[in-house]
Amino acid sequence: MRKIIGVYPAPEPAHWVGDGFQVRTLFSHHSHGGSASPFLLLDYAEPMEFLPASHRRGVGVHPHRGFETVTIVYDGGVAHRDSTGAGGVIGPGDAQWMTAGAGILHEELHSEAFSRSGGRLEMAQLWVNLPARLKMTSPRYQTLHDADIPRVDLEGERGLVRVIAGEYAGAVGPAQTATPMNVWDVRIDEGETGAFSLPEGDNILVAVLNGPVVVNGEGHARAGETIVFERYGGEVAFTAQAAAKLLLLSGAPIDEPVAQEGPFVMNTRDELRQAIDDYRSGRFGAITPPAG
Ligand code: MN
Repeated sequence: MRKIIGVYPAPEPAHWVGDGFQVRTLFSHHSHGGSASPFLLLDYAEPMEFLPASHRRGVGVHPHRGFETVTIVYDGGVAHRDSTGAGGVIGPGDAQWMTAGAGILHEELHSEAFSRSGGRLEMAQLWVNLPARLKMTSPRYQTLHDADIPRVDLEGERGLVRVIAGEYAGAVGPAQTATPMNVWDVRIDEGETGAFSLPEGDNILVAVLNGPVVVNGEGHARAGETIVFERYGGEVAFTAQAAAKLLLLSGAPIDEPVAQEGPFVMNTRDELRQAIDDYRSGRFGAITPPAG
C-alpha cells in the first residue's frame, strides 16, 4: 500500500471568494510544495443555502495566467464568461476546465436561474499547474457535462467513481489535460471499502468532502481533511465510516519552480512582473459584451 505522508486539516476559518463562494482551501502548493504538483490548490465551498436574489453573486472580471482552473459543481449553478468569447452554465455533476495559458479574463457568478431560485450551492475549484513549455499556450475552455462524465460502479456496487479526467477501469474522462492526471469524484457507501491502483510516480492527494474514512486500513481522515500519499508503493484504500465523498487527484509531478502572485502562476519572479505588466496594459483582452 502507498504510504501516507500526512493527513492535513483545512485552515480555518473559511473565506469568501467575491460574494458568491465561501470556501476553505483544503490544500495548496504553499503548504505542500512539490508533493502537491501538478495541483496548486483546492478550494471547497461546502453546502450553503442562498436566498433568492436579483443580484448575481460571485466574482467579477479578473485575470489568470500560467495554469488551469477546474470548477466542479455538486449542487447549484455557476456561470462563466471569458475573454476568448467562451462561456457556459454548469449545474450539479458538471465541471468546467479552463486553461488560462497566456492570459484570460473571466467572471464566475451564480447562474441566473440559481440566483433567481436560490437554494443550496456546493462546489470545488481546483487549480492545475501547466509545465513551463505550456504556460503561454492559447487560453481554452472545456465544458464537461455530467452526461459525458463516465460513472463506474465499484465492484459489488459499493460506491462509484465519476471520471472527470484520466482513466478508471477502462473508462476515460472527457477532460483534455496538459499533463497526465486523474481527477475522480469518488463515492463509497457507508461501511464499504474502495481500493484504487494509481500510476507509480504520481503524487496522490485525496480531499475528504464527506467522511470520515479509514485510510489503508490504519489512518483516519475526516471531512475537510486532505490525505497526501507517497509517489510510489501500490494501492490506496478508503473505508467509509459514513457515506463518503472524496475528490481523488493523482498526477505526474511537474518538477519546476512555482512562482505565484495572486491569479498568476509562473516559474520566475520576472515572468510574474511581465504578467502583471501585460494585464495592466490591457494585453489580456476584454470580455464582450461588457459586464452590466
Ligand atoms: Mn478565476
